[in-house]
Amino acid sequence: MDAPVKPKPVPVVNPWARPFWEGTKQGKLLYQKCKDCGTNVFYPRIACISCFSDNLEWVESSGKGTVYTYTVVKSNSPTAFLPDLPYVIAIVKLEEDGVQMLSNIVGCDPDEVRCDMPVEVTFEKLNDEFVLPKFKPFRS
Ligand SMILES: [Zn+2]
Repeated sequence: MDAPVKPKPVPVVNPWARPFWEGTKQGKLLYQKCKDCGTNVFYPRIACISCFSDNLEWVESSGKGTVYTYTVVKSNSPTAFLPDLPYVIAIVKLEEDGVQMLSNIVGCDPDEVRCDMPVEVTFEKLNDEFVLPKFKPFRS
């Protein structure tokens, strides 16, 4: 007997992370930059990770980067993700210094994914409230 498919979990959004999720809905991948020392900040925070200033601004990423590391999930996923098997969970290192995102690699066979593979962002609608940034192979 198949287990009923549950809906996928949705992000829990802190007030200071809201601009990130508003950005993905508009097809923009945003991260924070410290206006005092220039450090890039991701995930969203209330203060700079380098100088602790709260003078942060939102800037748009190029959406391009490389696979830093990844794993292919082939079994034992949470029930909501069973229809997606096999799928790739990856840390993507974006072009912008110090910005890394935990996401999925989509748009290719999971066996094609490699470390240092060039990727670019693509946006997947989860529901009316959330659009998730995912990454696909970048073919120039
Ligand atoms: Zn700073």
